[in-house]
Amino acid sequence: MTEQIRNWAGNIDLRPARAHRPATLSELQRIVAEANRVRVLGSGHSFNRIADTRDDLVLLDALPGDVEIDAEARTATVPAGIRLAELASRLHAAGFALANLPSLPHISLAGACATGTHGSGDANPGLAAPVRALRIVGPAGDVVELSRDSSPDFPGSVVALGALGVVTHLTVDIVPTFTIAQHVYEGVPLPELMADFDTAFSAGYSVSAFTDWVGTASLWVKRQIPAGAQHLVGGQGGQHPPAAPEPDWLGGRLMDRPAHPIPGMPTENCTEQLGVPGPWHERLPHFRPEFTPSSGAELQSEFFLPRTRAAEALAVVHKLGPVIAPVLQISEVRTVAADDLWLSPSSGRATVTLHFTWSPDLTAVTPALSALEQELLPLGARPHWGKVFLSGPAAARAAYEKADDFQQLLDRQDPEGKFRNDFVRDLFPVGGAL
Ligand SMILES: Cc1cc2nc3c(=O)[nH]c(=O)nc-3n(C[C@H](O)[C@H](O)[C@H](O)COP(=O)(O)OP(=O)(O)OC[C@H]3O[C@@H](n4cnc5c(N)ncnc54)[C@H](O)[C@@H]3O)c2cc1C
Repeated sequence: MTEQIRNWAGNIDLRPARAHRPATLSELQRIVAEANRVRVLGSGHSFNRIADTRDDLVLLDALPGDVEIDAEARTATVPAGIRLAELASRLHAAGFALANLPSLPHISLAGACATGTHGSGDANPGLAAPVRALRIVGPAGDVVELSRDSSPDFPGSVVALGALGVVTHLTVDIVPTFTIAQHVYEGVPLPELMADFDTAFSAGYSVSAFTDWVGTASLWVKRQIPAGAQHLVGGQGGQHPPAAPEPDWLGGRLMDRPAHPIPGMPTENCTEQLGVPGPWHERLPHFRPEFTPSSGAELQSEFFLPRTRAAEALAVVHKLGPVIAPVLQISEVRTVAADDLWLSPSSGRATVTLHFTWSPDLTAVTPALSALEQELLPLGARPHWGKVFLSGPAAARAAYEKADDFQQLLDRQDPEGKFRNDFVRDLFPVGGAL
């Protein structure tokens, strides 16, 4: 009998023939070895069929594993299914941090890396970039260790859409824990944001702009506070106080009460603002780790564009504002540093990302999304692998210079396509030719 599993947004029902929750590595190896085709589900936060399968599905939540920190090497080796919130609090307790986090901390690390998930910050690449090594169960049930230092295929193996095997552990670079204070500016006119894009996005360690494209934008500025200067926020004296935020900036006003990314929504689930310093993992995500929404009445799409085309991209979306706004809950603009991972949506280029949280009605959203794609694809847009896009596999594949290398990697490592579901086979067919 098939088991039905629903994704977080409730728009995808996964119907695997069999769902497995292995409790040991050897059980996982046996399941993979015996399966005809197999996929892994992370925390189910993707909005499309990337994790879906009609065959065997593996969930890793019963697999034991611990966070092993190597303080000297500045790395942590962690079980693949760990949620970012748990990993973050374990690292922070030991005096360490990940360099960045996405907006929601409930996502699994392996799922985030498999799809190129990112946060914001001119100097911050996506979450897959700090991955230094992977332990993977391959098609024969064999355990393979890959590392940045010794595996030539490593740049193709981290953002891998779940197609190379079951990742059981990741080793990631870590940094000393750090402090962030966030301020929100409301009422920034979009023309001002477009004209002063670099000023806006260089104002903090991580900056996000939220807008509905017909009104103004709010700017969420997350600034790193130097160690020992926490009490000086607001510039109340001392040797190196962090500069006090301007009350008026880029045509907007500094908020004196907490905000939600969607204006008017209750703010108690949002991370603390108003410049109150706090640990990185309690400020970089927009939502508090202790608030765990079990499902969301929304769809999401996101496009990664070369940062050099940010002004054009924002201008075309602004022009489409009246088409988008009726089906949009909120949009978020972020910046991401380049990395060298083959299928990373910010591979090889400093990036601006345009994110859309839609109403949960794909039929109503389709005309707006289709109009967006028509404008953004010619500017070099790459769709988020885990979100809704309409343009199809050929357009998505064409946006990646290293797509052919990834195809060859899959054909070498998994010639039978054991780990390829329909979503991946459409992009990277078994046997190679499109
Ligand atoms: C509310 C919300 C907020 C979000 N915010 C952001 C954001 O700020 N930035 C951003 O970039 N994205 C964001 N996303 C998208 C999300 O990060 C991605 O969809 C991510 O893939 C979800 O991780 P997951 O663990 O749920 O993966 P799943 O959706 O479960 O799976 C995604 C892919 O990862 C593969 N996978 C998972 N685990 C393994 C493993 N152990 N081995 C091999 N493959 C594996 C699956 O097979 C599948 O192909 C958000 C999503 C939601 C719902």
